[in-house]
Amino acid sequence: MTTISTTENGATLPAPEPGRNCPLCPRLAEFRAQVRAREPGWHNAPVASFGDSDARLLIVGLAPGLQGANRTGRPFTGDFAGDLLYATLLEYGFASGIYQARPDDGLTLVDCRISNAVRCVPPQNKPLPVEIHTCRQFLSATIATMPRLRAIVALGRIAHESTVKALGMRNAAVPFAHGVAHKAGALSLYDSYHCSRYNTNTGVLTPKMFRDVFARVRADLG
Ligand code: SF4
Repeated sequence: MTTISTTENGATLPAPEPGRNCPLCPRLAEFRAQVRAREPGWHNAPVASFGDSDARLLIVGLAPGLQGANRTGRPFTGDFAGDLLYATLLEYGFASGIYQARPDDGLTLVDCRISNAVRCVPPQNKPLPVEIHTCRQFLSATIATMPRLRAIVALGRIAHESTVKALGMRNAAVPFAHGVAHKAGALSLYDSYHCSRYNTNTGVLTPKMFRDVFARVRADLG
């Protein structure tokens, strides 16, 4: 694995993007191989972060959706969750262009980056704890290589908990709660329920609740 030295004390971190055939989670690598055989035209690989590394805002999702990011290769692109996320980012000036659910739609992120706690698609959208733990090295490296980072929005409890650990904090001290902004050193960590179809269909998350999170981030970042 390629490594880069990024921390102030000289600690070495992995590169923020895993290789296309990252073997570190055997179950996910096997699932990836199965889907590659079935759908050779899909991305079917770890999904890289979207947006510039000098952004002040990082959004952390759970993992690629099978027919969303795993198919298209861009986070949240091509499934229901992306419709609400990108519409909200456009509304609050964190994106520019027109979202058309394709990686070549010309949409750009503005002062914003999107990544996932787990970079490979998990069966049934459910990564195992060991997979979340293993992939955290890439989330940690992503955070460490964003020099202007000021705000992180965690989408859902798993993204929140992995981000908290990546930031060197304990989850017991920083529990997930929708709409809450936690201080994490110089960073603010904002929690939101995940913008999944299930959460919006069941009313756990309404578009207004989601917009309110980003309205606060926008107000805080200026
Ligand atoms: S989930 Fe992350 S650590 Fe696991 S195989 Fe994919 S890229 Fe590698």
